[in-house]
Amino acid sequence: MTLQIELNGVNKYYGAFHALKDINLAIEKGTFVALVGPSGCGKSTLLRSLAGLEKISTGEMKIAGQLMNNVPPRKRDVAMVFQSYALYPHMTVEENLTYSLRIRGVKKAEARKAAEEVAATTGLSHLMKRYPRELSGGQRQRVAMSRAIIRHPKAFLFDEPLSNLDAALRVHMRKEIRALHDRLHATSVYVTHDQIEAMTMADHVVVMRDGVIEQQGRPLDLYDRPANRFVAGFIGSPAMNFIPAVVGEDGTHVLLNLGTTQARLALADPLAPGRAVTAGIRPEHIRIVAAGQGAFDVPVGVVESTGSATYITSATQPELTVVETGRGDVRGGDIIGLSIDTMQLHLFDAETGKRLE
Ligand code: ATP
Repeated sequence: MTLQIELNGVNKYYGAFHALKDINLAIEKGTFVALVGPSGCGKSTLLRSLAGLEKISTGEMKIAGQLMNNVPPRKRDVAMVFQSYALYPHMTVEENLTYSLRIRGVKKAEARKAAEEVAATTGLSHLMKRYPRELSGGQRQRVAMSRAIIRHPKAFLFDEPLSNLDAALRVHMRKEIRALHDRLHATSVYVTHDQIEAMTMADHVVVMRDGVIEQQGRPLDLYDRPANRFVAGFIGSPAMNFIPAVVGEDGTHVLLNLGTTQARLALADPLAPGRAVTAGIRPEHIRIVAAGQGAFDVPVGVVESTGSATYITSATQPELTVVETGRGDVRGGDIIGLSIDTMQLHLFDAETGKRLE
């Protein structure tokens, strides 16, 4: 196991503002890491610190075993790919690709050969003489990536590279980026606010909030065992349902409170009677049954269908979302029964939001 990127106790202050709080991260060579979190959580600051564009305040940052704290960006041997592509508008694709090699003293013929090789991998060979303005968004993004690849960096740092593309192209490009990463045996750190992008592309997902790493691990481990209510709500779409609840008098069941409706569910492991908890249940772990046949009955609020799936929202407080495959025959105003898979119930401390074992 070779660690390619290591962050130990990293803190970053902008004046008095504490933007990164005690960040610890160990990334093995060949890993695709996604940094994900809501706007302002510090993911770009972390990426920019890796690139050397921000100086960390305290802690240790290593790339390929070397301490980077005081190493300037140019000497870090990492390549950043931006959302804005940052291409040189007055240069052709080929010139954009060869430029970074030429300024490092690589001979023209050699640089051109390297550019041709990379262009063949990224599907740009037929576009080498075009200018950036003559390319589509996806093609420009490919040029930006090719320019990073040509330098054989120790790590690729992606800052929301697909945000400017339309939905269909984004889905296509995320597969392309991941395939490139695999082919190059690269180490990649990828910033996104889109949890689906993080889940589908990464080997290791880091969820951040307010400068803190809330949880990190394999995508499905985060999905199956979120460490706290924040991660539970952030990962997964449609989002997990949260219901205020209290542990029953014998500690073996929990009472969910949906305003006018209450539900009683068995607990897999007993908890202290009377304890206030938040119950979390994912939309796909609730099944619609006939009224009176489930854990509880609810009136239906909104029904939305995408064609392949139907989202049913209850007219309760809080609302519950249920997802069913296919069209279904539920309508707004119906009373339906909801059956909950108790093995899939997540419980969080009502106050701290921490997962209860
Ligand atoms: P977004 O998804 O909106 O880009 P982010 O998670 O990437 O958000 P950062 O750009 O890392 O967030 O910013 C983290 C916090 O640090 C924010 O509250 C931001 O206002 C603050 N911040 C970022 N750059 C500076 C700066 N140069 N000076 C002061 N505060 C800054």
